[in-house]
Amino acid sequence: TVPGELKWAASPSEGGWEEVSIMDEKNIPIRTYQVCNVLEPNQNNWLRTDWIPRSGAQRVYVEVKFTLRDCNSLPGVTGTCKETFNLYYHESNEDRESYIKESSFIKVDTVAADESFTQVDVGDRIMKLNTEVRDVKVTTRKGFYLAFQDVGACIALVSVRVFYKTCPLTIRNLATFPDTITGADTSSLVEVRGSCVNQSEEREEPKMYCGADGEWLVPIGGCFCSPGYEEKGGACKACSAGFYKAKSSDAGCFKCPPHSHSVRDGATVCDCHSGFFRADSDPPSMACTQPPSAPQQLISVVNETSVVLEWAPPRRLGGRSDTNYPRMGSGSISSSQLCLPCGSDVLFSPGQTGLKTSRVVVSELRAHTHYTFIVHARNGVSQASGAGAAQSVSVSVTTNQAAPSPVSSILAIDVTRHSLSLSWQQPDRPNGVILEYEVKFYEKDQKERSYRIMRTFSRSVDVTGLNPLTVYVFHVRARTAAGYGEFSAPFEFSTNSGIHAVKFKIIARMLSLVFFICVLNLHHLCLIRRSKYSKTKQDSEEEKHLNPGVKIYVDPFTYEDPDQAIHEFAKEIDVSSIHIEKVIGMGEFGEVCSGRLRVQGKREIYVAIKSLKAGYSDKQRRDFLSEASIMGQFDHPNIIRLEGVVTRCKPLMIITEYMENGSLDAFLRKHDGQFTVIQLVGMLRGIASGMKYLSDMSYVHRDLAARNILVNSNLVCKVSDFGLSRVLEDDPEAAYTTRVRRKIPIRWTAPEAITYRKFTTASDVWSYGIVMWEVVSYGERPYWDMNNQDVIKAIEEGYRLPAPMDCPVVLHQLMLDCWERERAERPTFSQILNMLDKLIRNPGTLRRTGGDSTWVYPLNTAWCASVCLNIYLCLCTRREMDRLGIITPSHQNILIASVQQEVLSQMQHMQHSMVPV
Ligand code: AMP
Repeated sequence: TVPGELKWAASPSEGGWEEVSIMDEKNIPIRTYQVCNVLEPNQNNWLRTDWIPRSGAQRVYVEVKFTLRDCNSLPGVTGTCKETFNLYYHESNEDRESYIKESSFIKVDTVAADESFTQVDVGDRIMKLNTEVRDVKVTTRKGFYLAFQDVGACIALVSVRVFYKTCPLTIRNLATFPDTITGADTSSLVEVRGSCVNQSEEREEPKMYCGADGEWLVPIGGCFCSPGYEEKGGACKACSAGFYKAKSSDAGCFKCPPHSHSVRDGATVCDCHSGFFRADSDPPSMACTQPPSAPQQLISVVNETSVVLEWAPPRRLGGRSDTNYPRMGSGSISSSQLCLPCGSDVLFSPGQTGLKTSRVVVSELRAHTHYTFIVHARNGVSQASGAGAAQSVSVSVTTNQAAPSPVSSILAIDVTRHSLSLSWQQPDRPNGVILEYEVKFYEKDQKERSYRIMRTFSRSVDVTGLNPLTVYVFHVRARTAAGYGEFSAPFEFSTNSGIHAVKFKIIARMLSLVFFICVLNLHHLCLIRRSKYSKTKQDSEEEKHLNPGVKIYVDPFTYEDPDQAIHEFAKEIDVSSIHIEKVIGMGEFGEVCSGRLRVQGKREIYVAIKSLKAGYSDKQRRDFLSEASIMGQFDHPNIIRLEGVVTRCKPLMIITEYMENGSLDAFLRKHDGQFTVIQLVGMLRGIASGMKYLSDMSYVHRDLAARNILVNSNLVCKVSDFGLSRVLEDDPEAAYTTRVRRKIPIRWTAPEAITYRKFTTASDVWSYGIVMWEVVSYGERPYWDMNNQDVIKAIEEGYRLPAPMDCPVVLHQLMLDCWERERAERPTFSQILNMLDKLIRNPGTLRRTGGDSTWVYPLNTAWCASVCLNIYLCLCTRREMDRLGIITPSHQNILIASVQQEVLSQMQHMQHSMVPV
């Protein structure tokens, strides 16, 4: 189709290929190259095209249209006539090679005609065109030349078309594949990566192969329309209003679910109607929903220290099925009104959070504690809706007493051929005073078919009469007033083979010798003592010599520098580790607060914080800190524990363990009549134990009273308030000297301490008797409304407080013993402790109360006779009067009754008793 001459290179330039214009079938002039040297041998005529740029092609196709004369049709030709020609190519970057360098050409093929024309009538010549296509790999240079070699044929080249093949641009599976040139070989496939169409996302890498023929083959992967779009005609179109599509998928757009809408095209999610919500986890296909209403009919059943809570599901579930009860529980200790979160030791079954059921059992609660339980109903949209407390219901309960928790471990401390000595720790949760332990044991082989039981008050037991080399299984359980707790897990111990038997015998003999000496000593002591109790002289040197090695309390006032004492006995606490929460009382020097203390490396504990109010004098500072210096020297479960002091910044603080139930007097008044006698005796035992410890350390308290006893959540009583106290000094004169002339708590103080300030452990014993009376009468004021002078006078004249209502006779007798005029006649704290332990072990002895014998009040007759003659002042508590049905006009505590002379003489005969009415 080139107008004018092509001017391809020909060799030889003359007599070989010639450019000739002819008419095609349609009589259109076309350019041809012709050669027809059929009569001459050894023809080698070359015709070369111009340089053809490769343009990225790797395999090119050459379509040649030509005519070829049949040799037979040519008259007179010899064997020189040929009917083929050769096609060559030569790759080159050079587009201006001027001559044909034959040797650089590579042969593509020898081309023969399919059709040749034989005989042509002149003037009616029919041109028959051959079309032959050959392909060739061209990959090394920028372009190439083609060449046609004629070796003696009669040919006309009519058209030479050179092309390469592509796989055309296409979209498959929402991915666009570009126009791609086929590979170099006829069998090669070109891997092509597609790219996702607009508003679509790759589902799986889109790929196809471009075959050598320009056909796309094997489509893999593809794309999905993006959220908010759907496929329409190979493209992604936006969802219309009222519809949405949340995910990229091959699905179409969906209609908005109930209670939701979409106003714009291309919505990925429908918005909830007002008042309806969707939880984060809700699928967009889900209808919008509402939070539930509060749970209904919350009921609680208290069983000792467990509470069963049950409720009905909320009336309105908000269209959801995932209503749950996410979190519950807060405890408050009733005496302080301080609401504390339930500790981690409280057990919620099946759980505390995310409950699906409407019943939960809460166990391991503290005994006698007020709890509030809040049950929240929530569903998936509660948070989104911002509704919180409105969906909750609460109930308050007070737990009862509980049996002790099981003993956690048992140790064998001595093993012989026939015996085992075992020891164990108190249960983690005694839930009251432990009255005794029960030890159950059996031979392991026997299983529990036959077992033995032993009971002991102490935390150890010697089990004798065992078989040698036998494994025994032991279980221990504790008993409180609430009954037996559960047995511990089984602990196995084996008796030994008897190698130590000889040793054992020697030790046993030594022990019996010691025992014999002890009995002799005791006998001797019994002979020399005049008092009812085996009393050693309370304030003598002798007592200390009997207890060598016992730690003696040091009076902080003996230190010249009070700060030295405080730093010796109390730990300095960094104020930043204290978190004050609320005021719980007023002390002598300022407020008393409760709060929390977190010391590094230890768990956070609740503490009481006493602070010294601003504007204090040096003396006040000393007095204030002296309490900590004293307390810091003590370490006993029935003495309030000092955690530390803050002296390096103001206000100065004393940090002690926190006693949830506050002071004993107020606590008892609040729980009037609610405890068993054993529980009361348990409290008294604790106080006696603390006082024994103090007296062993030669410390005299001087202000022992129920108001100075603190009670914790387990009803453990601890002696506190060491502000007034002074050391029991060896100098007999020391009892007379008080550094500070304070007011003496008359009702609690022994007569010798009131009259000549002889404060001793024996005077503490007197006070202890008063505390006993306070405890058994549930916080009644000793001597009621009598004024101090009358109290002193009455005591001088022999009057003693009568037994409170329902007071066991033995307890009142112990009180009277504490109130012996002669201090040497009073029991020691050690004896009091033994006595109380005995009572606890034999609760039957506590059963007899004064009330059983027609209201006989064991008053001191001597006093009655001298003061009242035939008019008796009968002191009754208000509760006693209520019980007797006596109503006095002014509701006084004192009932005046006249008693006839015969009754008086009867009374004198009975001694220590009188009839009130
Ligand atoms: P006191 O300075 O010891 O007389 O304390 C005054 C009041 O604060 C007491 O009556 C208690 O009610 C209260 N209190 C003192 N110490 C504690 C404590 N460790 N735990 C709980 N309450 C306490």
